[in-house]
Amino acid sequence: MAPAIILFGSPGSGKGTQAKLLHQSMGPHVSTGDMLRAHIQAGDDLGRKAQTLIKAGRLVPDELVNELVENRIAQPDCKAGVILDGYPRTVKQAQVLLGMMQKDGFRPAVVHLVVDYDKIVARLSGRRQCPVCGTLYSQTTNPPKVAGKCDLDGAVLLTREDDRESVIRERLREYDSQTLPILNFFQTAGVSLFEINGGEQTPQRILERIREELMRSGLLSGRNGSGPQQGVRL
Ligand code: ADP
Repeated sequence: MAPAIILFGSPGSGKGTQAKLLHQSMGPHVSTGDMLRAHIQAGDDLGRKAQTLIKAGRLVPDELVNELVENRIAQPDCKAGVILDGYPRTVKQAQVLLGMMQKDGFRPAVVHLVVDYDKIVARLSGRRQCPVCGTLYSQTTNPPKVAGKCDLDGAVLLTREDDRESVIRERLREYDSQTLPILNFFQTAGVSLFEINGGEQTPQRILERIREELMRSGLLSGRNGSGPQQGVRL
């Protein structure tokens, strides 16, 4: 069965960074946040519905994100494996996801990145993102080579509207009340779950820890290799 790695953790815990590091060897990075922002940019119906909620740090309705993910993981490039970032975020979404996993033949595994909330607020308020390729930068730990510009395509980096402190606190409240309970749900459902300290180490070291856990549990094999593939080698 193809692995579906569910990157789990509070906003700013490093899910997006790890997803980008993992994606070459484990399949596409499916981020509901990125998909919603693409709809906002496109100015379509879904984007308009999502925009007000995202700006306020609230969650978008389950049906909207469930449909986005269901359509995305049915695409041929997800056949050998997929990395989910920012989904599921409610128990209802988690229930729907497990149904999709069974139907589409994925083996889900949760990687929980644990980070202290004070660290989160500091991280997110210093975060910048490339509007073209989505690469994330941090003013303190991972600055771009040229201030304010993306290393990969030179685009001017932006601060996300929801990375203001008051909105960050609201996102953390939503996380505590709606998202954290998913862990119990997954445990009861027998889904593999790995806890990784996402606070004290470099992104590269965190990636190594994730790889170790995935290899130990048979979700990854080998050490090198590149590009998404069947059986998933790293
Ligand atoms: P972060 O993980 O840093 O909060 P994301 O880019 O994953 O950032 O999400 C940004 C916003 O998009 C969330 O605060 C929420 O409003 C919305 N969103 C993203 N994924 C979901 C989801 N699975 N369910 C509901 N809302 C979502």
